[in-house]
Amino acid sequence: MNHEVLRKLPSIDTLLRTDLLTKLIGEHGKTVVIGAARAELDKIRRQILQTGAMSNQGLVLHVDDISQNIANQIRVRLRPTLQPIINATGVIIHTNLGRALLSRRAKIAMHEAASAYSNLEYDLEAGRRGSRYIHAESLLCQLTGAESAVVVNNNAAALVLCLSTLAKGHEVLISRSQLVEIGGGFRIPEIMHQSGAKLVEVGSTNRTYLHDYETHLNPSISTLILRVHHSNFKIIGFTHEPGIAELAALGKKHGIIVMDDLGSGTLLDTTPFGLAHEPTIQESIHAGVDIVTASGDKLLGGPQAGLIMGQKAIIAKLRKHPLIRAFRVDKITLAALQATLLAYLENKAITEVPVWQMIALDIETINLRARYWQKQCSQIGLHAEVVDAYSTVGGGSLPGQQLPTKALAIETNSPDTFTKNLRLNTPPVIACIENNCVMLDPRTVLAEQDDDLLRAVRKIEHPY
Ligand SMILES: *Cc1c(COP(=O)(O)O)cnc(C)c1O
Repeated sequence: MNHEVLRKLPSIDTLLRTDLLTKLIGEHGKTVVIGAARAELDKIRRQILQTGAMSNQGLVLHVDDISQNIANQIRVRLRPTLQPIINATGVIIHTNLGRALLSRRAKIAMHEAASAYSNLEYDLEAGRRGSRYIHAESLLCQLTGAESAVVVNNNAAALVLCLSTLAKGHEVLISRSQLVEIGGGFRIPEIMHQSGAKLVEVGSTNRTYLHDYETHLNPSISTLILRVHHSNFKIIGFTHEPGIAELAALGKKHGIIVMDDLGSGTLLDTTPFGLAHEPTIQESIHAGVDIVTASGDKLLGGPQAGLIMGQKAIIAKLRKHPLIRAFRVDKITLAALQATLLAYLENKAITEVPVWQMIALDIETINLRARYWQKQCSQIGLHAEVVDAYSTVGGGSLPGQQLPTKALAIETNSPDTFTKNLRLNTPPVIACIENNCVMLDPRTVLAEQDDDLLRAVRKIEHPY
């Protein structure tokens, strides 16, 4: 019985001759259309074989219906999977949502780097090959006080490069309180292993003292003390870790490199915004650390990158390691990074860099926008209130720290369905659920996204 039904299926050629698919072949070429047609026919065949002949009435077997499905399928296939979304979570640096948004200046620089040839690796004065690594170097040195700097793909790459270059076959001392997982299964002990360094754990989970490092130091086989910033978790209570200056002094005394993985890598002080103090890159450099690593797209508010800053001789070694080629940054990233760093140098980061603009937003501005959303919602009969809530910085920085905000709390019978519908909107809207309400935090929603956001909410309430 099933085979009879299968025989009734139109052939690929019949389908390709329909007006709709002929038109699509004209637009996109044969490969895309045939691919989608094959997939659709395979799907129908599978349905026929699975459901059995008796229940085949519900199947789409008409030529026009099938070609319409194929056309839909083509539309899906030609749509980029990476798309802009509206972040209403209030998490400013959301790793799943692409971390830092870039400044206008950085976006223009990226556009320019993409549109014209550049002196990426060309020394204009000498008229010969130059190095891509000089472009961000002087800016980073001016901003942090470091002697030298180099930029790679991300902070994870920075760690692997530093450990592979400086500690392969040697011992690296690290406090037991810092053997962390950074995210996505990226763990310090495993990186250490990958880099060929031998991990030496010192101290305990909650308390590590300077003398713990000293006890395990063996200058003939130890080359490095690594400090990893507690960027995404907090140890509270009966705790101790030596300060970075103490570690730097210990390293100097014994001729051991001290490396500080800061992760979030801020250049600005977080305390004026009511947040806890996040260690800055400058502080570590001034404390005498030999090498500091940080992410470009966390609190720095730039593109994805791994910034390595420190002693000239060490940076020179890193630049000669074969891995640097595998970890290298492209011109678009360098352009965005330069532009971002320039904003800091001109003392304009708070007004120009979106991460800092969002951190610095005053509560009354947020309140006004939440009230505007509320008004729009009540016009369509949706019950929503403006409530006190908290935004977070996120992105592996300032764990447990919150920024007071005003959010719109939408009351609905099924918050799960509501947030799901928001996610399936074009553009998708990501929201949180709290106390059974759908929460929309204006802090992370761009002003130009207001209309799209409200349209999404309206569509859920009144689908037709
Ligand atoms: C985020 C983070 C990393 C990883 O940085 P990426 O730029 O995401 O590779 C490494 N170390 C610490 C302490 C971090 O917070």
